[in-house]
Amino acid sequence: MNAKKNTVAIVGAGFSGAVIGRQLAEAGFDIEIFEARNHIAGNCYTERDKETGVMVHTYGPHIFHTADEEVWKYINKYAEIVPYKNRVKAIYNDSVFSLPINLHTINQFFGKTFSPKEAAAWIESKADLSIEDPKTFEEQALRFVGKDLYEAFFKGYTQKQWGLHPSELPASILKRLPVRFNYDDNYFNHPFQGMPKNGYTEIVAKILDHQNIKVYLNSTFDPEARSNYGHTFWSGPLDAFFGYQHGRLGYRTLDFKRSIQEGDAQGNAVINYTEEKVPFTRITEHKHFAPWEDHEKTVLYHEYSRSCEEGDIPYYPIRLAGEIKMLETYEKCAKAIPNVTFVGRLGTYRYLDMDITIKEALVAAKTFLDNSKK
Ligand code: UDP
Repeated sequence: MNAKKNTVAIVGAGFSGAVIGRQLAEAGFDIEIFEARNHIAGNCYTERDKETGVMVHTYGPHIFHTADEEVWKYINKYAEIVPYKNRVKAIYNDSVFSLPINLHTINQFFGKTFSPKEAAAWIESKADLSIEDPKTFEEQALRFVGKDLYEAFFKGYTQKQWGLHPSELPASILKRLPVRFNYDDNYFNHPFQGMPKNGYTEIVAKILDHQNIKVYLNSTFDPEARSNYGHTFWSGPLDAFFGYQHGRLGYRTLDFKRSIQEGDAQGNAVINYTEEKVPFTRITEHKHFAPWEDHEKTVLYHEYSRSCEEGDIPYYPIRLAGEIKMLETYEKCAKAIPNVTFVGRLGTYRYLDMDITIKEALVAAKTFLDNSKK
């Protein structure tokens, strides 16, 4: 009889692993978390930049936003969340525009002073209404904003971000962005939005701070070791669990070029560069994610997107037809493995915002606890 049968193994110490670990620990289970990196919090990891003192989002900006009250309450138990609205600017053709596309963007772009109604009618006159059921990113854009705005704000950026023409990408990617016929420039629609006062690493550390939870950093978990545990939650890459035997699921990875300046470099946290000729997608200036702090210097990251190769950090799942087919094969394999639950962005190969990740982790924990009572 193995001594660890009452222990649950969790692979990955990001939000998925931490939330599941905490829920199970509170129910009396012993939890061992194996994290391959030398830190917790996954891609939400934040730390103070040594040179500037600015809290940096090491793997790119994360703004907390949700419509789910349960998740909002959950996160607020572990952190002080300061109200924060993400307001993104775009540079195109030597001008600065407001994103997401709103009345200001439309009026500035077309040199008009439209009211909401006039703007809506104008955009409708530009939209390609012959596209009834948009399937691709390009069709979705042409249908809802028309060619001019599509080419200015979406085409180049998307080509850089995904390495593919928007006609090859699904419409779902664009559906994440609203179009507004008023001057609301809040990037997100959700009622609850904010930024953790002391960063995300502290939240994850607090979630993990329970006597029944042990975290092992710099520790890869051999899937074979699952037989030593009562159950395993795997938030690592789904294909890695199976030794990539059916191929590698495609991801985009990001490179960040760091630079330092005095004072305020761009006056905003995020500025997108939507033209294809500019090699980076956006510049993020992280001190603006914490406007309640004061720093003399500022740290900037130019963000470049490229195909994720072996050894790179996976960010965005690509999910084109080829990947979906491979995903289905892996999902079949996953179903056949007893006592293992695949969770999170990498474990389920989906683009997941933090709030959805937390929600799904709470559900996964509850399902496990309900089953274990039976
Ligand atoms: N997008 C774009 N232009 C922009 C911002 C976004 O074309 O200025 C497209 C792009 O394809 C991107 C998608 O819209 O992948 C979703 O944007 P979001 O800001 O949600 O991307 P994320 O923050 O997840 O990188």
